[in-house]
Amino acid sequence: MQPRAAEHQDAFRLVIELESLYVACDDCGHSRVLKLSNLREAASLGVHNYMQLCRKIRCSECPKVPPSARNLTLRPSWLAGELQTVA
Ligand SMILES: [Zn+2]
Repeated sequence: MQPRAAEHQDAFRLVIELESLYVACDDCGHSRVLKLSNLREAASLGVHNYMQLCRKIRCSECPKVPPSARNLTLRPSWLAGELQTVA
């Protein structure tokens, strides 16, 4: 499994830093948005970083397949400002 550059960059950011996550399935076109409440719930279930979250996500319309076989487009929206250093 070879993560794309953007995913790799965000891989170790925390789930609780996410504001929302847009998930689209490239196989069937189904899309949904995980909101703050969904993300906090995932975090409370032990999903700590973005990479772990990506492995958990699957299309609700398609049959279950291993993470490496999924064709999902993920667009994270990170909470603004938390990692920015004030000079
Ligand atoms: Zn699908």
